[in-house]
Amino acid sequence: MDTILVANAGSSSLKFELFAVGSGLTKLVKGHVEGIGTAPYFIVKDAGGDKIVDKRYSSSEVPDLSSAMHRVGMWLREQHEGELVAVGHRVVHGGAEYGRPVRVDRRVLEDLERYIPLAPLHQPNNLALIETLLELRPDLPQIACFDTAFHRGHDPVTDHYAIPAHFFAEGVRRYGFHGLSYEYVAGRLQEIAPDIARGRVIVAHLGNGASLCAMRDGRSQECTFGFTALDGLPMGTRCGQIDPGVLLYLIEQGKMSSSDLQDMLYNESGLKGLSGISNDVRDLLASEDPGAILALDHFVHRISLNAGSLAAALGGLDAFVFTAGIGENSPVMRERIATKLAWLGAQLDPMRNENGETRLSTDDSKVGLYLVPTDEELMIARHTHGVITESNSSL
Ligand code: ADP
Repeated sequence: MDTILVANAGSSSLKFELFAVGSGLTKLVKGHVEGIGTAPYFIVKDAGGDKIVDKRYSSSEVPDLSSAMHRVGMWLREQHEGELVAVGHRVVHGGAEYGRPVRVDRRVLEDLERYIPLAPLHQPNNLALIETLLELRPDLPQIACFDTAFHRGHDPVTDHYAIPAHFFAEGVRRYGFHGLSYEYVAGRLQEIAPDIARGRVIVAHLGNGASLCAMRDGRSQECTFGFTALDGLPMGTRCGQIDPGVLLYLIEQGKMSSSDLQDMLYNESGLKGLSGISNDVRDLLASEDPGAILALDHFVHRISLNAGSLAAALGGLDAFVFTAGIGENSPVMRERIATKLAWLGAQLDPMRNENGETRLSTDDSKVGLYLVPTDEELMIARHTHGVITESNSSL
Protein backbone atom coordinates (compact mmCIF):
# COMPACT_ATOMS: atom_id res chain seq x y z
CA MET A 1 0.00 0.00 0.00
CA ASP A 2 1.29 3.45 -0.96
CA THR A 3 0.77 6.27 1.53
CA ILE A 4 0.97 10.07 1.52
CA LEU A 5 1.84 12.05 4.62
CA VAL A 6 0.37 15.53 5.01
CA ALA A 7 2.30 17.82 7.34
CA ASN A 8 1.59 21.23 8.77
CA ALA A 9 4.47 22.65 10.81
CA GLY A 10 3.75 25.53 13.20
CA SER A 11 5.98 27.41 15.62
CA SER A 12 5.52 24.86 18.42
CA SER A 13 3.41 22.16 16.82
CA LEU A 14 3.51 19.60 14.05
CA LYS A 15 0.17 18.37 12.72
CA PHE A 16 0.01 15.41 10.37
CA GLU A 17 -2.35 13.04 8.60
CA LEU A 18 -1.57 9.83 6.77
CA PHE A 19 -3.56 8.79 3.68
CA ALA A 20 -3.64 5.48 1.85
CA VAL A 21 -3.47 5.82 -1.93
CA GLY A 22 -5.90 3.53 -3.72
CA SER A 23 -8.71 4.23 -6.12
CA GLY A 24 -9.12 7.34 -3.94
CA LEU A 25 -7.37 8.71 -0.88
CA THR A 26 -8.35 7.20 2.47
CA LYS A 27 -7.48 8.85 5.75
CA LEU A 28 -5.66 6.39 8.04
CA VAL A 29 -4.56 8.45 11.03
CA LYS A 30 -4.45 12.04 12.20
CA GLY A 31 -2.12 13.36 14.88
CA HIS A 32 -0.02 16.14 16.22
CA VAL A 33 2.89 16.93 18.44
CA GLU A 34 2.24 20.13 20.36
CA GLY A 35 4.30 21.98 22.96
CA ILE A 36 7.53 21.23 21.05
CA GLY A 37 10.50 22.39 23.14
CA THR A 38 8.36 23.07 26.24
CA ALA A 39 5.88 20.29 27.11
CA PRO A 40 5.79 17.97 24.10
CA TYR A 41 2.54 16.05 23.73
CA PHE A 42 2.08 13.44 21.02
CA ILE A 43 -1.44 12.43 20.07
CA VAL A 44 -2.65 10.19 17.26
CA LYS A 45 -6.24 9.27 16.42
CA ASP A 46 -7.40 6.59 14.01
CA ALA A 47 -9.82 7.22 11.15
CA GLY A 48 -12.78 6.73 13.52
CA GLY A 49 -11.47 9.44 15.87
CA ASP A 50 -10.32 7.05 18.64
CA LYS A 51 -7.09 7.97 20.38
CA ILE A 52 -4.34 5.44 19.66
CA VAL A 53 -1.36 7.42 20.99
CA ASP A 54 -1.39 9.79 23.96
CA LYS A 55 2.14 10.40 25.13
CA ARG A 56 4.02 13.19 26.89
CA TYR A 57 7.74 13.80 26.57
CA SER A 58 10.25 15.95 28.40
CA SER A 59 11.34 19.12 26.59
CA SER A 60 14.82 17.65 26.01
CA GLU A 61 13.34 14.57 24.30
CA VAL A 62 11.55 16.71 21.70
CA PRO A 63 13.43 20.03 21.70
CA ASP A 64 12.60 21.14 18.14
CA LEU A 65 10.63 20.55 14.97
CA SER A 66 13.15 18.16 13.50
CA SER A 67 13.07 15.88 16.57
CA ALA A 68 9.25 16.00 16.52
CA MET A 69 9.31 14.87 12.89
CA HIS A 70 11.72 12.13 13.84
CA ARG A 71 9.29 10.82 16.51
CA VAL A 72 6.38 10.92 14.09
CA GLY A 73 8.47 9.19 11.40
CA MET A 74 9.53 6.43 13.79
CA TRP A 75 5.97 5.85 14.94
CA LEU A 76 4.69 5.74 11.36
CA ARG A 77 7.36 3.23 10.32
CA GLU A 78 6.55 0.97 13.28
CA GLN A 79 2.78 1.11 12.79
CA HIS A 80 2.30 1.28 9.05
CA GLU A 81 3.69 -1.17 6.58
CA GLY A 82 2.81 0.91 3.56
CA GLU A 83 5.37 2.72 1.47
CA LEU A 84 5.47 6.47 1.90
CA VAL A 85 5.49 7.90 -1.63
CA ALA A 86 5.39 11.64 -0.87
CA VAL A 87 4.92 14.27 1.81
CA GLY A 88 2.50 17.13 1.19
CA HIS A 89 3.21 20.32 3.14
CA ARG A 90 0.96 23.19 3.99
CA VAL A 91 3.02 26.25 3.10
CA VAL A 92 1.39 29.51 3.97
CA HIS A 93 2.99 31.71 1.31
CA GLY A 94 3.63 31.11 -2.35
CA GLY A 95 3.90 34.82 -3.17
CA ALA A 96 2.55 36.12 -6.46
CA GLU A 97 4.36 33.43 -8.47
CA TYR A 98 3.19 30.07 -7.09
CA GLY A 99 -0.35 29.53 -8.29
CA ARG A 100 -0.07 25.74 -8.05
CA PRO A 101 1.49 23.14 -5.75
CA VAL A 102 5.10 22.34 -6.53
CA ARG A 103 7.69 19.65 -5.82
CA VAL A 104 10.37 21.26 -3.67
CA ASP A 105 14.06 20.87 -4.34
CA ARG A 106 16.93 23.03 -3.07
CA ARG A 107 16.29 25.70 -5.69
CA VAL A 108 12.57 25.97 -4.95
CA LEU A 109 13.29 25.97 -1.21
CA GLU A 110 15.61 28.96 -1.61
CA ASP A 111 13.00 30.68 -3.74
CA LEU A 112 10.31 30.15 -1.11
CA GLU A 113 12.60 31.62 1.56
CA ARG A 114 12.00 34.99 -0.13
CA TYR A 115 8.51 34.97 1.38
CA ILE A 116 9.66 34.54 4.99
CA PRO A 117 9.35 38.30 5.67
CA LEU A 118 5.78 38.16 4.35
CA ALA A 119 4.76 35.41 6.80
CA PRO A 120 7.39 35.45 9.56
CA LEU A 121 5.33 33.39 12.01
CA HIS A 122 4.54 30.48 9.67
CA GLN A 123 6.78 30.31 6.61
CA PRO A 124 10.08 29.56 8.44
CA ASN A 125 8.57 26.51 10.17
CA ASN A 126 6.88 25.26 7.01
CA LEU A 127 10.19 25.44 5.15
CA ALA A 128 12.31 24.09 8.01
CA LEU A 129 10.33 20.86 7.95
CA ILE A 130 10.75 20.49 4.19
CA GLU A 131 14.48 21.10 4.56
CA THR A 132 14.76 18.46 7.30
CA LEU A 133 12.97 15.89 5.15
CA LEU A 134 14.98 16.74 2.03
CA GLU A 135 18.10 15.96 4.03
CA LEU A 136 16.74 12.80 5.65
CA ARG A 137 15.03 11.39 2.56
CA PRO A 138 16.43 13.06 -0.58
CA ASP A 139 14.46 10.74 -2.89
CA LEU A 140 11.10 11.27 -1.21
CA PRO A 141 9.05 13.93 -3.06
CA GLN A 142 8.22 16.94 -0.87
CA ILE A 143 5.25 18.84 -2.28
CA ALA A 144 4.46 22.39 -1.16
CA CYS A 145 0.77 23.35 -1.23
CA PHE A 146 0.15 27.06 -0.75
CA ASP A 147 -2.54 28.86 1.20
CA THR A 148 -2.22 31.76 -1.24
CA ALA A 149 -2.44 29.82 -4.53
CA PHE A 150 -6.24 29.70 -4.85
CA HIS A 151 -6.37 33.50 -4.98
CA ARG A 152 -3.85 33.94 -7.78
CA GLY A 153 -6.39 34.41 -10.55
CA HIS A 154 -7.69 37.73 -9.15
CA ASP A 155 -8.26 40.75 -11.32
CA PRO A 156 -5.19 42.95 -10.65
CA VAL A 157 -7.51 45.77 -9.50
CA THR A 158 -8.39 43.59 -6.51
CA ASP A 159 -4.87 43.02 -5.28
CA HIS A 160 -3.57 46.60 -5.19
CA TYR A 161 -3.27 48.90 -2.23
CA ALA A 162 -3.58 52.60 -2.99
CA ILE A 163 0.01 53.39 -2.07
CA PRO A 164 2.77 54.38 -4.53
CA ALA A 165 2.63 51.92 -7.41
CA HIS A 166 6.22 50.64 -7.16
CA PHE A 167 5.34 48.86 -3.88
CA PHE A 168 3.11 46.43 -5.78
CA ALA A 169 6.05 45.23 -7.86
CA GLU A 170 8.05 44.90 -4.64
CA GLY A 171 5.43 42.52 -3.26
CA VAL A 172 3.38 44.86 -1.10
CA ARG A 173 -0.05 43.77 -2.31
CA ARG A 174 -2.98 41.60 -1.37
CA TYR A 175 -2.41 37.84 -1.47
CA GLY A 176 -5.30 36.17 0.40
CA PHE A 177 -5.05 33.02 2.54
CA HIS A 178 -7.11 29.98 3.62
CA GLY A 179 -6.92 29.00 -0.05
CA LEU A 180 -6.65 25.24 0.55
CA SER A 181 -9.84 25.35 2.59
CA TYR A 182 -11.64 27.43 -0.04
CA GLU A 183 -10.52 25.16 -2.84
CA TYR A 184 -11.79 22.10 -0.97
CA VAL A 185 -15.15 23.74 -0.22
CA ALA A 186 -15.50 24.87 -3.84
CA GLY A 187 -15.00 21.26 -4.93
CA ARG A 188 -17.54 19.94 -2.44
CA LEU A 189 -20.07 22.56 -3.47
CA GLN A 190 -19.71 21.37 -7.05
CA GLU A 191 -20.77 17.90 -5.87
CA ILE A 192 -23.55 19.09 -3.53
CA ALA A 193 -25.09 21.89 -5.59
CA PRO A 194 -23.48 22.20 -9.05
CA ASP A 195 -25.75 25.03 -10.23
CA ILE A 196 -24.96 27.09 -7.15
CA ALA A 197 -21.23 26.30 -7.46
CA ARG A 198 -21.25 27.90 -10.91
CA GLY A 199 -22.75 31.07 -9.49
CA ARG A 200 -21.81 33.83 -7.04
CA VAL A 201 -20.86 32.37 -3.69
CA ILE A 202 -19.33 33.67 -0.47
CA VAL A 203 -17.57 31.05 1.63
CA ALA A 204 -17.05 31.96 5.29
CA HIS A 205 -14.12 30.13 6.87
CA LEU A 206 -14.84 30.85 10.53
CA GLY A 207 -12.34 29.15 12.82
CA ASN A 208 -9.64 30.54 15.05
CA GLY A 209 -8.49 32.25 11.86
CA ALA A 210 -11.45 33.73 9.99
CA SER A 211 -11.99 35.08 6.51
CA LEU A 212 -14.48 35.30 3.66
CA CYS A 213 -13.87 34.43 0.03
CA ALA A 214 -16.02 35.59 -2.87
CA MET A 215 -16.14 33.03 -5.68
CA ARG A 216 -17.62 32.97 -9.12
CA ASP A 217 -17.76 29.61 -10.89
CA GLY A 218 -15.62 28.12 -8.10
CA ARG A 219 -12.81 30.64 -8.56
CA SER A 220 -11.69 33.19 -6.02
CA GLN A 221 -12.57 36.79 -6.90
CA GLU A 222 -11.93 38.46 -3.55
CA CYS A 223 -10.72 37.46 -0.11
CA THR A 224 -10.92 39.47 3.10
CA PHE A 225 -7.30 38.58 3.89
CA GLY A 226 -4.73 40.85 2.28
CA PHE A 227 -0.96 41.21 2.51
CA THR A 228 -0.99 39.16 5.72
CA ALA A 229 -3.46 36.96 7.55
CA LEU A 230 -4.18 39.89 9.91
CA ASP A 231 -6.57 41.67 7.57
CA GLY A 232 -10.32 41.36 7.15
CA LEU A 233 -12.45 39.83 9.89
CA PRO A 234 -11.58 39.98 13.57
CA MET A 235 -10.38 36.49 14.59
CA GLY A 236 -9.70 34.49 17.74
CA THR A 237 -6.64 36.55 18.64
CA ARG A 238 -5.99 38.62 15.48
CA CYS A 239 -7.32 42.13 14.95
CA GLY A 240 -8.67 41.99 11.38
CA GLN A 241 -9.03 45.20 9.41
CA ILE A 242 -7.68 48.23 11.25
CA ASP A 243 -7.02 51.83 10.28
CA PRO A 244 -3.24 52.02 9.65
CA GLY A 245 -3.37 55.35 11.47
CA VAL A 246 -3.95 53.40 14.70
CA LEU A 247 -0.64 51.63 14.20
CA LEU A 248 1.18 54.91 13.53
CA TYR A 249 -0.38 56.32 16.68
CA LEU A 250 0.66 53.33 18.78
CA ILE A 251 4.22 53.48 17.48
CA GLU A 252 4.56 57.22 17.98
CA GLN A 253 2.42 57.99 21.03
CA GLY A 254 2.27 54.56 22.66
CA LYS A 255 6.00 53.95 22.06
CA MET A 256 5.29 50.37 21.01
CA SER A 257 8.10 48.49 19.30
CA SER A 258 7.35 46.57 16.11
CA SER A 259 7.63 43.25 17.95
CA ASP A 260 5.22 44.42 20.70
CA LEU A 261 2.84 45.58 18.01
CA GLN A 262 3.15 42.29 16.15
CA ASP A 263 2.43 40.33 19.33
CA MET A 264 -0.56 42.51 20.16
CA LEU A 265 -2.08 42.31 16.66
CA TYR A 266 -1.56 38.54 16.21
CA ASN A 267 -1.96 37.18 19.74
CA GLU A 268 -3.80 39.62 21.99
CA SER A 269 -6.49 41.09 19.78
CA GLY A 270 -9.67 39.82 18.10
CA LEU A 271 -12.23 38.04 20.29
CA LYS A 272 -9.67 37.57 23.03
CA GLY A 273 -8.67 41.23 23.14
CA LEU A 274 -12.20 42.58 22.90
CA SER A 275 -13.70 40.24 25.47
CA GLY A 276 -10.75 40.10 27.84
CA ILE A 277 -11.94 36.52 28.43
CA SER A 278 -11.16 34.07 25.64
CA ASN A 279 -10.51 33.56 21.95
CA ASP A 280 -12.92 30.62 21.96
CA VAL A 281 -16.46 31.31 20.79
CA ARG A 282 -17.77 28.53 23.06
CA ASP A 283 -16.49 30.38 26.14
CA LEU A 284 -17.95 33.66 24.93
CA LEU A 285 -21.35 32.15 24.16
CA ALA A 286 -21.44 30.69 27.68
CA SER A 287 -20.61 34.03 29.31
CA GLU A 288 -22.87 36.95 30.22
CA ASP A 289 -19.94 39.28 30.68
CA PRO A 290 -20.38 42.53 28.69
CA GLY A 291 -16.93 41.97 27.10
CA ALA A 292 -18.02 38.58 25.75
CA ILE A 293 -21.25 40.06 24.39
CA LEU A 294 -19.38 42.94 22.73
CA ALA A 295 -16.81 40.60 21.17
CA LEU A 296 -19.43 38.36 19.56
CA ASP A 297 -21.60 41.31 18.45
CA HIS A 298 -18.52 42.86 16.81
CA PHE A 299 -17.55 39.57 15.14
CA VAL A 300 -21.04 39.16 13.63
CA HIS A 301 -21.16 42.84 12.63
CA ARG A 302 -17.84 42.67 10.80
CA ILE A 303 -18.81 39.45 9.03
CA SER A 304 -22.02 41.06 7.80
CA LEU A 305 -20.22 44.22 6.61
CA ASN A 306 -17.61 42.20 4.75
CA ALA A 307 -20.26 39.89 3.28
CA GLY A 308 -21.98 42.99 1.89
CA SER A 309 -18.82 44.22 0.22
CA LEU A 310 -18.02 40.79 -1.21
CA ALA A 311 -21.58 40.49 -2.53
CA ALA A 312 -21.01 43.86 -4.21
CA ALA A 313 -17.81 42.52 -5.78
CA LEU A 314 -19.79 39.59 -7.17
CA GLY A 315 -22.67 41.78 -8.37
CA GLY A 316 -25.14 39.82 -6.21
CA LEU A 317 -25.21 36.60 -4.26
CA ASP A 318 -26.49 33.08 -4.93
CA ALA A 319 -25.18 31.33 -1.81
CA PHE A 320 -23.36 31.80 1.48
CA VAL A 321 -21.43 28.82 2.84
CA PHE A 322 -20.33 28.22 6.45
CA THR A 323 -17.19 26.23 7.21
CA ALA A 324 -14.41 25.65 9.84
CA GLY A 325 -14.73 25.37 13.65
CA ILE A 326 -17.34 28.05 14.33
CA GLY A 327 -19.14 27.72 10.98
CA GLU A 328 -19.42 23.94 11.27
CA ASN A 329 -20.27 23.61 14.95
CA SER A 330 -22.27 26.58 16.12
CA PRO A 331 -25.95 26.82 15.09
CA VAL A 332 -26.25 29.96 17.26
CA MET A 333 -23.48 31.80 15.41
CA ARG A 334 -24.80 30.65 12.03
CA GLU A 335 -28.22 31.94 12.97
CA ARG A 336 -26.87 35.30 14.09
CA ILE A 337 -24.88 35.72 10.88
CA ALA A 338 -27.72 34.51 8.64
CA THR A 339 -30.08 37.06 10.22
CA LYS A 340 -27.72 39.81 9.05
CA LEU A 341 -27.86 38.41 5.51
CA ALA A 342 -31.66 38.60 5.29
CA TRP A 343 -31.49 41.86 3.31
CA LEU A 344 -29.64 39.95 0.57
CA GLY A 345 -32.47 37.40 0.44
CA ALA A 346 -31.11 34.66 2.74
CA GLN A 347 -33.66 32.83 4.88
CA LEU A 348 -32.44 30.30 7.40
CA ASP A 349 -34.51 27.20 8.16
CA PRO A 350 -34.18 26.89 11.97
CA MET A 351 -34.58 23.09 12.02
CA ARG A 352 -32.04 22.52 9.24
CA ASN A 353 -29.66 24.83 11.07
CA GLU A 354 -30.15 23.07 14.41
CA ASN A 355 -29.61 19.67 12.74
CA GLY A 356 -26.52 20.89 10.90
CA GLU A 357 -27.88 19.89 7.49
CA THR A 358 -25.97 20.65 4.31
CA ARG A 359 -28.63 23.04 3.06
CA LEU A 360 -29.49 25.42 5.87
CA SER A 361 -31.85 27.77 4.08
CA THR A 362 -35.58 27.40 3.41
CA ASP A 363 -36.60 25.93 0.07
CA ASP A 364 -37.70 29.32 -1.26
CA SER A 365 -34.74 31.33 0.09
CA LYS A 366 -33.39 33.59 -2.67
CA VAL A 367 -29.85 33.09 -1.40
CA GLY A 368 -28.88 29.52 -0.46
CA LEU A 369 -27.24 28.95 2.91
CA TYR A 370 -25.00 25.90 3.15
CA LEU A 371 -22.88 24.06 5.67
CA VAL A 372 -19.83 22.43 4.09
CA PRO A 373 -17.18 21.02 6.46
CA THR A 374 -13.71 21.81 5.22
CA ASP A 375 -10.78 19.39 4.90
CA GLU A 376 -7.54 21.18 4.13
CA GLU A 377 -5.46 18.04 4.72
CA LEU A 378 -7.40 16.04 2.15
CA MET A 379 -6.94 18.92 -0.30
CA ILE A 380 -3.17 18.81 0.31
CA ALA A 381 -3.14 15.01 -0.11
CA ARG A 382 -4.99 15.35 -3.43
CA HIS A 383 -2.60 18.00 -4.68
CA THR A 384 0.38 15.93 -3.57
CA HIS A 385 -0.96 12.87 -5.35
CA GLY A 386 -1.65 15.01 -8.43
CA VAL A 387 1.90 16.39 -8.56
CA ILE A 388 3.64 13.02 -8.18
CA THR A 389 1.30 11.32 -10.68
CA GLU A 390 1.91 14.11 -13.19
CA SER A 391 5.68 13.96 -12.78
CA ASN A 392 5.68 10.12 -13.05
CA SER A 393 3.64 10.23 -16.26
CA SER A 394 5.97 12.84 -17.78
CA LEU A 395 9.07 10.68 -17.18
P1 ADP B 1 -8.19 26.74 13.31
O1 ADP B 1 -8.34 28.07 12.64
O2 ADP B 1 -7.24 26.76 14.46
O3 ADP B 1 -8.02 25.57 12.36
P2 ADP B 1 -10.82 25.63 13.81
O4 ADP B 1 -11.37 25.74 12.44
O5 ADP B 1 -10.57 24.28 14.36
O6 ADP B 1 -9.57 26.56 14.04
O7 ADP B 1 -11.82 26.40 14.79
C1 ADP B 1 -11.54 26.51 16.15
C2 ADP B 1 -12.57 27.44 16.78
O8 ADP B 1 -13.88 26.96 16.49
C3 ADP B 1 -12.48 27.46 18.30
O9 ADP B 1 -11.61 28.46 18.74
C4 ADP B 1 -13.89 27.79 18.69
O10 ADP B 1 -14.01 29.20 18.83
C5 ADP B 1 -14.76 27.37 17.53
N1 ADP B 1 -15.66 26.27 17.87
C6 ADP B 1 -15.44 24.94 17.84
N2 ADP B 1 -16.54 24.26 18.23
C7 ADP B 1 -17.48 25.19 18.52
C8 ADP B 1 -18.83 25.14 18.97
N3 ADP B 1 -19.45 23.99 19.22
N4 ADP B 1 -19.48 26.30 19.15
C9 ADP B 1 -18.88 27.48 18.91
N5 ADP B 1 -17.61 27.60 18.47
C10 ADP B 1 -16.92 26.48 18.27
